[in-house]
Amino acid sequence: MTAPRIEIDLDAIGHNTRVLVDRLAGRGIQVTAVTKAVLGHPEVARALVGAGVRTLGDSRMENIEAMRRAGVEARMSLIRSPMASQAERVVASADRSHNTELSVVSALSAAAVAHARPHGVVLMVELGDLREGIMPEDLESFVEAMWRLPNLRLDGIGTNLACRNGVVPSDRNMRELSQLVESVESRFDRHLSVVSGGNSASIEWALTTDSVGRVNDLRLGEAILLGREPLHRHPLKGLRTDAFTIVAEVIESKRKPAQPWGEIAQAAFGTPQTASRTGKIVQSLLALGEQDVDPAGLVAPTGVHILGASSDHLVVTTEDLLVVGTTIRLAPNYSALLRAMTSPFVTPTTLAPVTRGHGRRG
Ligand SMILES: *Cc1c(COP(=O)(O)O)cnc(C)c1O
Repeated sequence: MTAPRIEIDLDAIGHNTRVLVDRLAGRGIQVTAVTKAVLGHPEVARALVGAGVRTLGDSRMENIEAMRRAGVEARMSLIRSPMASQAERVVASADRSHNTELSVVSALSAAAVAHARPHGVVLMVELGDLREGIMPEDLESFVEAMWRLPNLRLDGIGTNLACRNGVVPSDRNMRELSQLVESVESRFDRHLSVVSGGNSASIEWALTTDSVGRVNDLRLGEAILLGREPLHRHPLKGLRTDAFTIVAEVIESKRKPAQPWGEIAQAAFGTPQTASRTGKIVQSLLALGEQDVDPAGLVAPTGVHILGASSDHLVVTTEDLLVVGTTIRLAPNYSALLRAMTSPFVTPTTLAPVTRGHGRRG
């Protein structure tokens, strides 16, 4: 099998999806499954839909178009504010998009008229994390202006927290979101069907708060794919954290001094890490580097320690020599997953149920 590769366990993803869909349904919240970390991989998308998700969200049109081409049957939502230059593509392939700029919404309206295809809009409001969002005090005038634009449907309101500044979803900011929904509804005398409260960082709030208020949707990527919440990266109860495995091949294994020699300046990626050990160690190279993954986001198996990485090499140490040509399996965090899926050098490989082996955790 080709290396490096990223093995995708669709059973694990399906399991995580079902658990989260069920738990959040108990709180009146539906799941929009976010596919950007897997670039809209069609088999992953089908696993999500098969496990009860009805809306898929992605931040990039290329990924939404790939899922459409593959015939994935779901509502598709562009969760990053569209580029005005892509308005036509957005309307052609996405059912809905998340927006913060009136000029973009106008461009979507024009495209929606040209294509005779109505387009749904979720307006994102800024609640303190300082990434995307209309300032709350500007929301009503935005809606007022949007009202006049043909072929657009105001589906709802959303917010995003935690991603840029780590602002924690709380009763306080979620109550503000619900209040904004209600003030827009009463001012314009209409019901907003989607109140999208946040990403995986909102799960803990959603499952423990006394009242979710009007929040009825969460956009979940990391929690489904890696089984962890992003605020503390704790595993979520009952979820699998082993859906993705990076497999890399050993290309050199030798006993070498632990310490470099010669005059020391910068390394390929800045200041080199100082080696803590002295004497000789077993050092091995894997054909995997910065161009394939985020090496800092890898967990090596027991007995293998990562010493460093450059563009194309991951340097590891073990007790005994490794056999050149064999492979090592590593667990990626979100950053390593994102880069591996994006790298043309890493082959995504879905595990077919029949090839699945023994002793896997379930
Ligand atoms: C990436 C993204 C998500 C999903 O975030 P996770 O932390 O992976 O759940 C949700 N909403 C928006 C706007 C995003 O960009």
